[in-house]
Amino acid sequence: MKAIDVLNIHNLKRTSCREGIIDIMLSTNQALSENDIRNQLSYNFDRTTFYRSFKTLEEHKIIHKIIIDNQIIKYAIDKSITDKKGHAHFFCNHCHIVKCLDSVPMQEIQLPDGYAEDEIDILIKGTCPTCKKKYCNH
Ligand SMILES: [Zn+2]
Ligand SMILES: [Zn+2]
Repeated sequence: MKAIDVLNIHNLKRTSCREGIIDIMLSTNQALSENDIRNQLSYNFDRTTFYRSFKTLEEHKIIHKIIIDNQIIKYAIDKSITDKKGHAHFFCNHCHIVKCLDSVPMQEIQLPDGYAEDEIDILIKGTCPTCKKKYCNH
């Protein structure tokens, strides 16, 4: 999947900023902060252009926000463009990486009568495989 394909699927016009953001996010398997993305763009877009492109991608649910706490907010791309399902996120307490656990089936949560669900936000905090290995070597 390339940035152009993603934009085509969503009927979005090609712009170098949108393509740049998508390319960066497709090339990694972990969530990135807005700053990470900005710093990795090959061209230095002005704030407004970047911000607008970013918002458009978010509105089209091409990228989604993962809120860890009020200091860490990261974004990930939905690789399953057509088959969008909710998924949990994993945050490593040691190296602070964030990953979409999109291959892990989510359990249905039965709400009591009278409650309606808008979205489910599941964040699991713990130790990632890389950090786990590091600690075992001690
Ligand atoms: Zn880690
Ligand atoms: Zn995700």
